[in-house]
Amino acid sequence: MSTRQFNFCAGPAALPTAVLERAQAELLDWQGRGLSVMEISHRHPAYMAMVQEAESKLRQLMGIPDNYKVLFMQGGATAQFALLPMNLLGTKTHADYIDTGIWSAKAIAAMAPYGAASEIASSASGGYLNVPSQGQLKFNKDAAYVHYCPNETIGGLAFDYVPNTGAVPLIADMSSTILSEPIDVTQFGVIYAGAQKNIGPAGLTLVIVREDLLGSASKTTPNPFNYALQAANDSMLNTPPTYGWYLAGLVFDWLLQQGGLGVMAEKNAVKANRLYQAIDESRLYSNNIVIANRSKMNVTFILEDEALNAEFLQQAQANGLLNLKGHRSVGGMRASIYNAVPEAAVFALVAFMKDFETRHWA
Ligand SMILES: *Cc1c(COP(=O)(O)O)cnc(C)c1O
Repeated sequence: MSTRQFNFCAGPAALPTAVLERAQAELLDWQGRGLSVMEISHRHPAYMAMVQEAESKLRQLMGIPDNYKVLFMQGGATAQFALLPMNLLGTKTHADYIDTGIWSAKAIAAMAPYGAASEIASSASGGYLNVPSQGQLKFNKDAAYVHYCPNETIGGLAFDYVPNTGAVPLIADMSSTILSEPIDVTQFGVIYAGAQKNIGPAGLTLVIVREDLLGSASKTTPNPFNYALQAANDSMLNTPPTYGWYLAGLVFDWLLQQGGLGVMAEKNAVKANRLYQAIDESRLYSNNIVIANRSKMNVTFILEDEALNAEFLQQAQANGLLNLKGHRSVGGMRASIYNAVPEAAVFALVAFMKDFETRHWA
């Protein structure tokens, strides 16, 4: 017998229980067809209708204008690190990148075979505790695009503004922040995100691309990774990740039922504020990131006495609070509190943290 635990995993992350229950109810018999949605052709009219509906729900949630294409791809955000220069450089030779941590640095490193990545600003000298200000961004006028990561999932560092890049398209790796709050899509040339944080299960990658940026792919771009070809084929140039796409549609449904992204943003702020407040009020836990740049999705913290780390994690798990260990590259703790993580999970975590502190650090 098992009950669902509170899951703070950074990704693949928690999914709404209501979504999993609906998927379970529909698993063997989708729409009364006597088949699972996994077992039918992606070109079946019912499947095509379902994914079109999923896309229109996403467009409604995010307010995606008609001059943007929505692509449902594979390969994760990591594949996009290379697909961006392959699809967007065209006749240009370089692009601008902002470095705020591990994921933006990986995007920079992946650019090398395709062109020059100019690192126009970095948080490295400040220990990745704040993001560069708009004034510190010295754009190259002939850059193909400007790339940044609004929310660094590993460090727990987030932008509190959208860089203004003028006429140069802004590209955002929104893997860990998409759908967590309303955004103005028109500020971006491309938004991309692996699904496994805030959209659905791993295997699906969302790419939202402004139409005028299509059509510059290099000749070496494999067809399934060519934005323009996928856009022309409704993301069905080849077999898409059909089950992941279906589940993403259920999540979009659930988000609309919750009241949309404005409501989610309010809930997410309550959760994050509660957790940071507990950290700031304690003597055992700390987070040194500049307050305005603290992530609302991935809350990182360390224990003053690192010798307590193992016991903290073990007791948390015994209390039904799972996956709080920080990324292997930075250590410490990390509570990922995406849309599907309920307020009750954060309240339970805060109660546990206080109790643990009282017992070990009185
Ligand atoms: C998780 C994550 C990635 C990597 O995603 P994959 O799907 O594993 O390639 C990239 N960027 C950010 C911001 C992430 O959170």
